[in-house]
Amino acid sequence: MSGIGKGVSTASIGRILKSRGFRVTAVKIDPYINIDAGTMNPVEHGEVFVTDDGMECDQDVGNYERFLDEDIPRENYMTTGAVYQSVIERERNLGYGGKCVQVVPHIPQEVITRLERASAKAKADFTIVEIGGTVGEYENILFLEAARMMHLAYPDGVLFVLVSYLPIPSIIGEMKTKPTQHAVRAMNATGIQPDIIIARSLTAMDEPRKKKLAVFCNVREEDIISAPDAKSIYDVPTNFEHDHLGDRLLTKFGLASTEKDLQEWEKFTNRVRKLKKIIRIGIVGKYFGSGIFTLADSYLSVIEAIKHGAWQAGVVPEIVWLNAEQYEKNTHARNEILNYDGIIVPGGFGSRGVEGKIAVIEFCRTKDIPYLGLCYGMQLATIEFARHVCGFKDAHTTEVNEKTTHPVIDTLPEQVGNIKEKRLGGSMRLGAYSCDLVPHTLSARAYRVAHVSERHRHRYEFNNAFRDELEKKGLVVAGINTERKLVEIIEIKKHPFFVGTQFHPELKSRPLTPHPLFYAFAKAAIARNIKSKKR
Ligand code: GLN
Repeated sequence: MSGIGKGVSTASIGRILKSRGFRVTAVKIDPYINIDAGTMNPVEHGEVFVTDDGMECDQDVGNYERFLDEDIPRENYMTTGAVYQSVIERERNLGYGGKCVQVVPHIPQEVITRLERASAKAKADFTIVEIGGTVGEYENILFLEAARMMHLAYPDGVLFVLVSYLPIPSIIGEMKTKPTQHAVRAMNATGIQPDIIIARSLTAMDEPRKKKLAVFCNVREEDIISAPDAKSIYDVPTNFEHDHLGDRLLTKFGLASTEKDLQEWEKFTNRVRKLKKIIRIGIVGKYFGSGIFTLADSYLSVIEAIKHGAWQAGVVPEIVWLNAEQYEKNTHARNEILNYDGIIVPGGFGSRGVEGKIAVIEFCRTKDIPYLGLCYGMQLATIEFARHVCGFKDAHTTEVNEKTTHPVIDTLPEQVGNIKEKRLGGSMRLGAYSCDLVPHTLSARAYRVAHVSERHRHRYEFNNAFRDELEKKGLVVAGINTERKLVEIIEIKKHPFFVGTQFHPELKSRPLTPHPLFYAFAKAAIARNIKSKKR
C-alpha cells in the first residue's frame, strides 16, 4: 500500500548497488491517467518534484536523487497517461503499420521500450523500477504485465522485490503475515513471483515469522529483508545491509559479491545520530489538510533540504507546520512566530492563504527573523516589500489580482497565451536555468561561486518595471538570469537573513551535499537561537 516506503526502499537498493561499484538508475511508474504530476494537487499526491530537464514528477524521484546523489532525467518517470499518449500518437502516425493496436501487447511493449531507453541513457548496470500502487488493484495491472513480459525476455536480468507491510494490531500485539501472504498470491495471479520481500513493519521481524512467511510466500528465508521503521530514512540502506540485501541481489543475478563502500554514507548517518542541539523552523503553507492528517508529503524536498542544511551546521531541526490561513483572521497569531529560529514560505499557487503568508513575511522582515522564501515565498516577499516599504498599497501578483495598479509580480510573457487558452499541463517555466549571483550579497557568500544552475516551476515573475523603485528602498537583487534579465533572488538590506528565490533550491539539496542556501539559513537560525537564549 502507499506510504510504506517503496520509494525509500527503491532508493536504498540503488544506494546499496552503487556502493558495490555499479552504475545505477531508478525509474518511477505512476499508474495515473495524468500525463505528469504537474496537474496533481500536492495534498492528494504529495510534492511535485522537478528534474533538471523539466519533468514534473512524483516525489520519489527526489528520493532517488538524494540517495543516489545523481540527477535523474525525464525518461525515468512515466504515467499510464503518458504511455497511452505515446501509443496513440504512434498509431495516428501509422507507426503500427496497419496492425490492430491493442492494450496487450502494445501498452506493456511501450512500457518496456521506455524502461530500456531510461536504462540505456543512464548507461546503467542496474535499473530499478518502482511500480506505484498496490498489487491486486486494477490501475497498475498493465505495468505488472510489462514486468512479467520483461522477465520473460530477460530471465536472468530481472528480479522482483515486493515491499509489503506487516501490521502489528495493538489489540493483538503480534506481527501479522497474512496480508503479505495474500499480496504474494495476488502477484502470482499476474504471473510474477517475488524474489525478495522487504518486510516493512514497526519493529524488526523475528525468526519464526520469517520462516512462516518464507514457506507461505515461496521465498527463501534469507530473501526476506526485515525493514523496521527507521528514525531517519537515511538509515535504511544500512538497515537493509544488516540483512545482506546487497549480497542477495548480486547472488541472484549470478554476480560475484563486491566489496561494499557505504563508508561516506555511514559517516554521515552516524554523525547525524549524535546531534543534539535543536533549532525550530516554521513552514508556512496551505497544502496540509487531508482530514485529520497533516501531510508532510506536500513539502517533502523542503523538509529534507532543511534537515541537510541543519545537520551540516551541527543541529537538528524541529519543523513545525504553520497554517497560513490562521494569520489572516487573527493578527495576534503572528506573535507566535517570535518562538521560531527561522521561517520558510515554500512554493504555492492561487489566492488561498496568501494574505496570511504576507503577514508572516512582514513580521519576519521587521523582527529580524531569518526568512527563506521559495518561489511563491519570494514573490510574496516582493509584494510585502512593495506594499509596506514602498507604499504601493495594492501591490500584488497578477496570479491573484489581475487589476492591481502595481503588478510587482507579473505573468511571464510566454505564459499569457498558455493561461488564456488553458494550456496548463507541463507548460510552466520548468527545470534548470542559470542564475548569475551579484557579488557581495548574502547569496553570493553562501554559494561561494559566481554562477549557479537551479530548478524552476513557475508562470509568474518579478516585474522589472518596478525594480528601480524597489531597489531604492532597500530591496537587493542578488541573482539574475542574464539571458532574460529575470530576477532570480531577492534579499533585503540590514537583515540577518532574508532571502527569496524564484527557483526551488530544495530540489537540489542532497544529504551529502546540502544546498548552500539551506546551510546558510540554518546558520542564521542557530545565531538567532543563541541570541534568544541570552535574552
Ligand atoms: N504560483 C507562482 C507561479 O506560478 C509560484 C509557483 C511556485 O511556487 N512553484 O509563478
